[in-house]
Amino acid sequence: MIAAQCPLCGGSEFGDYRSRKKVRCTACGSFERGRFLGLVLQRAAPAATGSPVVHFAPEVGTSKVLRSLYGEAYQPADVSPDSYPWMDIPVRQIDLQYPSRYLAPESVLGLVHSHILEHIPGDLTNSLYEMNAAIEVGGFHIFVVPFFSDWYREDMDSGMSREERDRLFGQWDHVRSFGRRDFLDRIGPCFRNFERIHLNDIVTVDDLVAAAVPPSALTQLTAHSVFYFRKLRSL
Ligand SMILES: [Zn+2]
Repeated sequence: MIAAQCPLCGGSEFGDYRSRKKVRCTACGSFERGRFLGLVLQRAAPAATGSPVVHFAPEVGTSKVLRSLYGEAYQPADVSPDSYPWMDIPVRQIDLQYPSRYLAPESVLGLVHSHILEHIPGDLTNSLYEMNAAIEVGGFHIFVVPFFSDWYREDMDSGMSREERDRLFGQWDHVRSFGRRDFLDRIGPCFRNFERIHLNDIVTVDDLVAAAVPPSALTQLTAHSVFYFRKLRSL
């Protein structure tokens, strides 16, 4: 059997993370979802147009791939830009509860994020709608979310205890949990003017195994599954 390799950095050692065995690349820190995302970007990301590609809550490995693809058009972003001391270019301050305050309509080529949407307070549909409005026609939106329940649920109550959030949403700082049963229905209205790219045309089960990603990420809705959309028209 050929040893698995991280497609983001070439690393071949994987360490444990919490209760999960051999999931984190010891060289770049990537998880399964970052390696899947990186494979898709390496093989099927749209060519640069000069417009920004905005990467929210940037991870080291994914950042490296995006910078090699988009150079100066790569823009890391976060609601707390100071959280990225390793980043050697400025991190933009963007609050995804109000994307249109930061991103003009059809001004970016792409938006990239992994395990972010479950943290954003407020109305999810509005956040996604405004994010998608910022993407130029032909541009892309690629992301990963965790699934913690069968059906969507959320609660913005700032008085809710950390323990209760952990129990309901899978982590103390999550405001929602995405449901395996209704996820695509839930986000669908925000993506009516987009085409969903089917990833089994881009990545095989063998590719995932070779990148230390569970094959179920391709065949089911899991916390490592990548969603990739291209914008067809303005609305
Ligand atoms: Zn790596």
